Amino acid sequence: MPLELLGATWAEVERHAGAAFGREKGRGAAAPIYRDALRQGTFMPERQGLGAAACMRWREQFTCTLPALRAQTGEPAEHGTVVKTLHGLADGNTIESVSLPMGRGRTSLCLSTQVGCARACTFCETGRQGLQRNLTAAEIVAQVTSQHARSRADTLVFMGMGEPLDNFEALEQALAVLTDRHGLGYAHDRLTICTLGPPAGLRRLPALGYRRLNVNLSLHAADPALRARLLPGTARQPLAEVRDAFAACRQRDNQELGIHWCLLPGINDRPDDVAALATFCQGLGRVMIHLIPFNPGSLPITRAPTEAEIERFVGWLRAAGLPVRRRITKGRTVMAACGQLASAEPAARPSR
Ligand code: SF4
Repeated sequence: MPLELLGATWAEVERHAGAAFGREKGRGAAAPIYRDALRQGTFMPERQGLGAAACMRWREQFTCTLPALRAQTGEPAEHGTVVKTLHGLADGNTIESVSLPMGRGRTSLCLSTQVGCARACTFCETGRQGLQRNLTAAEIVAQVTSQHARSRADTLVFMGMGEPLDNFEALEQALAVLTDRHGLGYAHDRLTICTLGPPAGLRRLPALGYRRLNVNLSLHAADPALRARLLPGTARQPLAEVRDAFAACRQRDNQELGIHWCLLPGINDRPDDVAALATFCQGLGRVMIHLIPFNPGSLPITRAPTEAEIERFVGWLRAAGLPVRRRITKGRTVMAACGQLASAEPAARPSR
């Protein structure tokens, strides 16, 4: 069975090459081949001065599969351009990733972990699709490699299509590949997992041993009934259990735990919602509320909040002693903002 380079760590590639070609022989060519595959998405053994027969043997042993670039749309933003990419997978499915300008020349890449999503959050375009299938580790990494071939993203956020912890094995392997210094070499603190917080999945994260990995909880409502209504896929997750498992993700004393709050006018923007959030945060240690103004999709459950509504909510959070970072909306007009990603070419989307 050929080994897919984009889904493998260097140690796995080294082992496979050693078994196929002999330890020393395989090792010499494998390192640059691995690096080029992860960083450029290219697999060209010829570049290592190998003869035709040897190259053929390498191709029997390894593959490097980048998704097809199906479409790319952009929206000018404050510090550059938001670029949404629709990737075509080998089985005909499609997924989206989004490159976001973060200022000072830095970019963040928002990655998908599933085709569709089973969690059915009511404000999310992906949730409407249902789950088609999990992505493989190679398909997750390939989104980064595709971007890297053009320019390296500074940070990676697992916040695109899918619930990352519902695809834990592939996520675990993708983290190992992305942080492998022989390939893309991302520092652990450049990676952020954004999750609805299934307790069983959260409990597995610390065991991975990434002391600097960022974990953000997509809370959106701290009242159990409202959360279950907004995020039906969390209905069986007792909030106290989510909170305890989330707290256990802190790997360093001063680590900041992020809490996402999608601001939905008339739904979760009352003083009572702030009070419930403050109660949820009690005893959690250092937290940061990431306030995300709702981005209407094709069947919006409400409208986008006005500037005044956002400012009012920010004021209530601060008055309750909660630190807040307001997310600037990026990519809304090209359906690239939070909650707007889906598996469809732009023309095939229902109009808003
Ligand atoms: S918000 Fe995330 S977890 Fe919820 S349906 Fe959308 S992709 Fe899935």
